[in-house]
Amino acid sequence: MRGGEFRRHGHALVDWIAEYLEHPERYPVLPRVKPGDVRRALPSAAPEQAEDFEAVFDDFERVLLPALTHWNHPGFFGYFATSSNPAAILAEFLAAALNQQAMLWRTSPAATELEAVSLDWLRQLVGLPDTFEGVIYDTASISTLHGLAAAREAAVTAVREDGLAARAGIPPLAIYCSEQAHSSVEKAVILLGFGQRSLRRIPVDEEFALRIDILEHTIERDLADGVLPVAVVATIGTTSTTSSDPVQAIAAVCARHGIWLHVDAAYAGVAAMLPECQPHFAGWEHADSIVFNPHKWLFVPVDLSAFYCRRMDVVRQAFSLVPDYLQSPHGGSDVRNLMDTGIQLGRRFRALKLWMTLRDLGAEGIRDVLTRHMDLARRFAGWIDAHADFERVAPVPFSVVCFRAHPRGIDDQQALDRLNERLLDEVNASGEVFLSHTRLRGAFVVRLAIGHLQTTDVHVSRAWELLQQTLDRCSQSVLPR
Ligand code: PLP
Repeated sequence: MRGGEFRRHGHALVDWIAEYLEHPERYPVLPRVKPGDVRRALPSAAPEQAEDFEAVFDDFERVLLPALTHWNHPGFFGYFATSSNPAAILAEFLAAALNQQAMLWRTSPAATELEAVSLDWLRQLVGLPDTFEGVIYDTASISTLHGLAAAREAAVTAVREDGLAARAGIPPLAIYCSEQAHSSVEKAVILLGFGQRSLRRIPVDEEFALRIDILEHTIERDLADGVLPVAVVATIGTTSTTSSDPVQAIAAVCARHGIWLHVDAAYAGVAAMLPECQPHFAGWEHADSIVFNPHKWLFVPVDLSAFYCRRMDVVRQAFSLVPDYLQSPHGGSDVRNLMDTGIQLGRRFRALKLWMTLRDLGAEGIRDVLTRHMDLARRFAGWIDAHADFERVAPVPFSVVCFRAHPRGIDDQQALDRLNERLLDEVNASGEVFLSHTRLRGAFVVRLAIGHLQTTDVHVSRAWELLQQTLDRCSQSVLPR
């Protein structure tokens, strides 16, 4: 694609994107395709001859567009709803054009230093002390992996040199998290060689928060048995219900026993910007490492995860390995080489979209949207609470509501599960909204997660209308007469 052509297609593409962002409701949130439809519609091998961009874009519109799940639809209420704000979309465009590889300071001074600056801004916005140093990874899963790798480095003598396998003198190791913690904790435990059996999943209380008494008891029993506690992962904003663990009390337990504390605030972390949310974050400043995702509730397109650590020297100790060809004249305390703080070498210019988002929305703009999302969630929760045939099954501390249909007089749990599964399928089939589900205390539960920049009371009211109308229809066919 030569200069003139690039300009023509580039301008047309920006127009296309602007139109898409202005009218996301033209598309069903969930695509109406079957598995294999996309593959069958595309050739099985790459073209031998170059093709015109028009032809390629036609195929994008014909084959791929109808098979997209529209995360950018304001009726997207599944998982954790996200959005790409336009400034960050432009940043992604620019980052691809610049193609920076920020492994060493000298391979991109701008990307290296902007990462430090934008993460420092973000740190201040969420009220963490300047003893935390930040680094950007792609996802919270990878951030947690790095946090637990650092915990392992700190706890196990010479683990870098000698590993864990078949080593004499290494006691059994343990990691602790609540039974509501994200599966990424368990994946990290597997990958780091702790083994799934070393993960202690601590039961939760009636509000889905880790039971501190059971955590303490479990750690004490482990110590008595000669087990070495390596890390506790506390969650602020769990995946199913957005409950928060008692971080202050957990931090005290960790301090008493010298255990690494990692806080997973993947979704909720940004809400630390709001004074009303402060109680959920009490004590997180005592963590050794923290993750939260601007690609979840800060309107930055996926992927961008912010990892903060009070002991980045331990992360570097675990990961820094510099072959000859990557030796550079710049080092020391005033220069960061980002390859030293993680597993990957090449890293793209993610900081650009964070920096542009923070400047484009401003802290006040971000706080306003978060507050609006939380207000909408509380309003929806109020409708659920006031309806005789629906019930809310968890508190609503942030912008997610967990609920289920529970018609009067029906107490058969299997029938209720079937009813709610059908309800969710039919509401999602409307194409107007998309909600997802979870299981709580064994029951199938519907989740409404508010997180899109353009979501307003119109979309939330429509979801509620659809749920009520659909319940009437489903009850007749699913419930025993
Ligand atoms: N931790 C929590 C609490 C989450 O809710 C999620 C995903 O929703 C993750 C971690 C994983 O996030 P990522 O997709 O960035 O790895």
